[in-house]
Amino acid sequence: MSQATQDSVREDGVIASVSGPVVTARGLDARMNDVVYVGDEGLMGEVIEIEGDLTTIQVYEETSGVGPSEPVESTGEPLTVDLGPGMMDAIYDGVQRPLDVLEEKMNSAFLDRGVDAPGIDLEKKWEFEPTVSVGDEVASGDVVGTVPETVTIEHKVMVPPDFEGGEVVAIEDGEFSVTETVAELDNGEEITMHQEWPVRQARPAAEKKTPREPLVSGQRILDGLFPIAKGGTAAIPGPFGSGKTVTQHQLAKWADADIVVYVGCGERGNEMTEVIEDFPELDDPKTGNPLMARTCLIANTSNMPVAARESCIYTGITIAEYYRDMGYDVALMADSTSRWAEAMREISSRLEEMPGEEGYPAYLAARLSEFYERAGYFTTVNGEEGSVSVIGAVSPPGGDFSEPVTQNTLRIVKTFWALDADLAERRHFPAINWNESYSLYQEQLDPWFVENVEDDWAEERQWAVDVLDEENELQEIVQLVGKDALPEDQQLTLEIARYLREAYLQQNAFHPTDTYCSPEKTYGILTAIHAFNDEAFKALEAGVPVEEIQAIEAAPRLNRIGVQEDWEAYIEDLKAEITEQLRELY
Ligand code: ADP
Repeated sequence: MSQATQDSVREDGVIASVSGPVVTARGLDARMNDVVYVGDEGLMGEVIEIEGDLTTIQVYEETSGVGPSEPVESTGEPLTVDLGPGMMDAIYDGVQRPLDVLEEKMNSAFLDRGVDAPGIDLEKKWEFEPTVSVGDEVASGDVVGTVPETVTIEHKVMVPPDFEGGEVVAIEDGEFSVTETVAELDNGEEITMHQEWPVRQARPAAEKKTPREPLVSGQRILDGLFPIAKGGTAAIPGPFGSGKTVTQHQLAKWADADIVVYVGCGERGNEMTEVIEDFPELDDPKTGNPLMARTCLIANTSNMPVAARESCIYTGITIAEYYRDMGYDVALMADSTSRWAEAMREISSRLEEMPGEEGYPAYLAARLSEFYERAGYFTTVNGEEGSVSVIGAVSPPGGDFSEPVTQNTLRIVKTFWALDADLAERRHFPAINWNESYSLYQEQLDPWFVENVEDDWAEERQWAVDVLDEENELQEIVQLVGKDALPEDQQLTLEIARYLREAYLQQNAFHPTDTYCSPEKTYGILTAIHAFNDEAFKALEAGVPVEEIQAIEAAPRLNRIGVQEDWEAYIEDLKAEITEQLRELY
């Protein structure tokens, strides 16, 4: 919560009633979405309904023990985040209180209530290097200087969006805290490294563009079959044990985003603890620096009730937009949007609103889409290009994708990675079901893959999809009559499909080489299997029995391409060997 917000406290009211995270107050002078401080302890909340003299507030902290006639104060301002250097490497709670600062304040890992702490360190000095000089004209959004925020990230100090801009009359390099003026304009505007922004409002950009570049993940099934664009949206439903955590770690580590914002939204306490403990241990494989140097974690702590899940989501996306404005590609991961939806359901039922499907409020779809709409590939206000990609985990109860949160999310997002408990049980990882998953970005990203990888990228992918589809159909027959009853060409198709699954779709996140697969290597593996396919069918046509084709020694080596460093030479060699061994058969 920002300092400024605290300073401008207005009219008092009193609590009329308390129902879990929902508090009603009487006599409060407040507007919709104002931040208020509730009760003797000053718990933070947000106005969500006003009816005559009664104001309804969702409170972001535990309300037990809070009772009628305690005071309520309005700040007269909406929920804002503090933006400035120091957000990388930070771990925040749902209202951007840094967890380490809070812990220090209370000397305990169990957060007390009503404790306030600014989202960025107001004292710390940063090394400011101007990028403009006295006499230069700067407009809203323009960069006036940089700060080495972490070993990985250069923070760009921008003219705030609500400034008019003008001629620079004073600017100097040196060490400054975020509240000190680093540049002055001729109209009297003073630029600091600190901005505030209301979380429910998208930060302005010049233009939202059609995304045309993939957010390369280094995961074959994603890049190869179901790519997400930079600035795109994806949903990943994760039944327990299906590999949700591993997939998210892989994306955080390998996706070619400059910055990762990870929102842990109301997941069970231990899962969140896992993230808070795991992430600071991880290295950024691309730079060797700590992964946290380009990551911001926002985590709901166990004492934060449901309402804070919502503020988590909005805080996260606002921070993501701020780095986008600097011209960075940001990936935001929200885990899990189902918990946020459940929070909406709980608040809505306490407000006695008319329930929609399965008790979720009628505005569930609108809220979800407002959130995902803040993703995109943009020309920023200062003319740079930046993107926010949003990957939302969904946790459908019992893995049932027909429930409202999954269904509403599917209507919005353009990429769907369906994690599958059955595949995970069979140890097929990543357990992403290729029959159910999809990406609507394929066509618009194909030109990038053609230009940057290979001309027939799309044709090769289509070949793989066709073979996997055919396998899917044949499996039904196999279950009825057994594989041996199939004609030989179909048996061979099943064999090819098996290699597609084992050599191409499966990928071991824990193998030092296989953990990341470049688009070139992804393509290479696919074409190696395709080459085997073509030679194998030639052999079949020449009368070689399918068992003999399947039995050639070289074929199983296809499954080892993923773990090869020198995969190009390996594939060359393997193709030659496969051809030779098959041709010997006829
Ligand atoms: P969830 O978070 O959905 O409960 P996890 O991500 O913890 O599931 O995955 C469960 C287990 O599955 C992991 O401990 C790991 O053994 C295995 N696993 C998941 N994804 C992969 C992968 N890509 N490569 C190898 N093993 C994986």
